[in-house]
Amino acid sequence: MASIKTLLITGVSSGFGRALAQEALAAGHRVVGTVRSEASKREFEALAPDRALGRVLDVTDFGSIDGVVAEVEASVGPVDVLVNNAGYGHEGVMEESPLAEMRRQFDVNVFGAVAMIKAVLPYMRERRRGHILNITSMGGYITMPGIAYYCGSKFALEGISEALGKEVEPFGIAVTAVAPGSFRTDWAGRSMVRTPRSISDYDALFDPVRTAREEKSGKQAGDPVKAARAMLAVISATRPPAHLLLGSDALGLVRAKLSVLSDEIAAWEAVTLSTDV
Ligand code: NAP
Repeated sequence: MASIKTLLITGVSSGFGRALAQEALAAGHRVVGTVRSEASKREFEALAPDRALGRVLDVTDFGSIDGVVAEVEASVGPVDVLVNNAGYGHEGVMEESPLAEMRRQFDVNVFGAVAMIKAVLPYMRERRRGHILNITSMGGYITMPGIAYYCGSKFALEGISEALGKEVEPFGIAVTAVAPGSFRTDWAGRSMVRTPRSISDYDALFDPVRTAREEKSGKQAGDPVKAARAMLAVISATRPPAHLLLGSDALGLVRAKLSVLSDEIAAWEAVTLSTDV
């Protein structure tokens, strides 16, 4: 069996975080999982007494993150793998969606993840080893109308992940941005924040998008348990990838986007090349 590791996973109450925690526990690893209530903590810890260790933490409680990580390092032991999984989707036409919704989206999906990374890095750097997985999304490559803030947050996390990977690679620390397609979690159900409609000009474009996403919730093609197994394979790889897509929809849509992007770059190449001094 591969070596036993300690994983620190944010958001283990449901979805990918829960599936990864369960698969990691089944593989013999130790999992420190963050949740947002004492009841969720008890429920998580019941999965595997002594090896499933819950910590109550909202990732936007920035003042608490360093202390929680320090306490985990001291009382549980070295964190080998940080998985920034906690996140949610905001859905709403951009013009209709208050800036406060964008701030909240970025606070959780971007600033929360970065704050967690900044808390674990001093320990990983000192040990000259570690692995950080950031759960981004195919929405970190492709976009759809109605999820501008979400895509913005996931593009941001993709960019931060990639740059960070180049900074910490000399210290033996790997960074992998994991970009799932549509999976059967609570993402499009209880967790999604939906801005109410207010501008009828967008009805024709957006109403079908909202309805389709609501109808698809719980019927997505992606299996979170299989995603968890894929992530465990990445965690045990000697040379983990900087980017990993999960799901046939992610593969098809991202490849199509790259092809359109490549064609557009070629179509405008002369203009692009016209600007050097
Ligand atoms: P999920 O079942 O709704 O799980 C989300 C988890 O994040 C829950 O444990 C939730 O905790 C936690 N969370 C949310 N906000 C938090 C906060 N401020 N502080 C701490 N924890 C917080 O959905 P999921 O699909 O597994 O989502 C996990 C990640 O995958 C997210 O980053 C999401 O954007 C990404 N993703 C999902 C899909 C998909 O199709 N499902 C596709 C691409 C990417 P509570 O139970 O307390 O709310």
